[in-house]
Amino acid sequence: TREIHLAARPVGWPTHDDFRTVETELPDPGDGQVLVRNTFLSVDPYMRGRMDDRRSYVPPFRLDAPMDGGAVGEVLESGDRSVPVGATVLHQAGWREHALLPAAQVRVVDTGSVPASAYLGALGMPGMTAYVGLTRIAPVKEGETVFVSGAAGAVGSAAGQMARLLGASKVVGSAGSPDKVAWVTGELGFDAAFDYHDGPVSQLLAEHAPVDVYFDNVGGEHLEAAITAMADFGRVAACGAIATYNETDPSPGPRNMFLVVTKRLSIRGFIVMDHGDVASEFYRTAGAWLADGRLKYRETVVDGLDGAVEAFLDLHRGTNTGKMLVRL
Ligand code: NDP
Repeated sequence: TREIHLAARPVGWPTHDDFRTVETELPDPGDGQVLVRNTFLSVDPYMRGRMDDRRSYVPPFRLDAPMDGGAVGEVLESGDRSVPVGATVLHQAGWREHALLPAAQVRVVDTGSVPASAYLGALGMPGMTAYVGLTRIAPVKEGETVFVSGAAGAVGSAAGQMARLLGASKVVGSAGSPDKVAWVTGELGFDAAFDYHDGPVSQLLAEHAPVDVYFDNVGGEHLEAAITAMADFGRVAACGAIATYNETDPSPGPRNMFLVVTKRLSIRGFIVMDHGDVASEFYRTAGAWLADGRLKYRETVVDGLDGAVEAFLDLHRGTNTGKMLVRL
């Protein structure tokens, strides 16, 4: 079986030389362990931070060891009665074809009404990030205007739809291509969207101001533009800053921070994994939205472990619409 190791710590944009595919023996599960054949691996923007050797909310990847990350797969062998052979499980031993794990570290998921891959996207970590942001961090109120950047990505596409389901009367998105803009305003029902390549974001956003809630996936110029467009007492759910992840020098912050004072804005960062208490509410609520078609999602799927590094790089180039996945 094969797994992908981090071979070197990338500086700026990662290259293929920073990764290595390694052959290993397929292990036998011991008592209390399960052997899983992975069927979908998740590649996520936060993994870029784990490639650097610095303290953050998750430890860095180790060099010359398999990377990890969200994955779903099928149980091939089981040393624990609570996880039967054939079950579909969600776990964190991604970036590899097979995973040997303590049974306590896998979650059996129900694939009766949603496919297994949804547990890595709309009904998984990205979907829950959108839900936590809009219910706990910058709760959306009835009749408000919500702006979502990265609107055609895994988190953003869920956030825009959830904003509407939670009562927003106007949802505006930004994304990196005309096709993405067409998808979010068409199938996903955003009221408006723009391609941020079409001009300064501040100008493109101005016609949609005032914004009550900004769900920030991008940071940088988008955050500065949003601060200018915010209504008094507006709230920002600071979810990510993908525009900055591959920069070698920290970029200057928004130049308009004094507006935070004059408009009495709240900007609040969050990490989804601190909000485990919301999980059962999220699964119940988002599960129902998915089941009755009110929450839609798309996946961009790359085939084979050999495509995983390129899929990860493509995420930062914006090649994906919806959740970026590797299918094995
Ligand atoms: P996406 O599916 O949104 O994929 C990343 C997208 O980012 C790309 O498709 C691309 O779309 C966009 N992008 C890349 N570079 C830029 C840029 N310079 N400016 C604007 N957009 C850019 O990924 P996720 O949905 O998984 O993650 C979205 C954000 O949410 C990330 O910032 C991530 O770190 C964050 N996140 C935070 C969590 C938390 O707990 N706080 C948990 C999960 C994710 P485009 O074509 O539009 O440019």
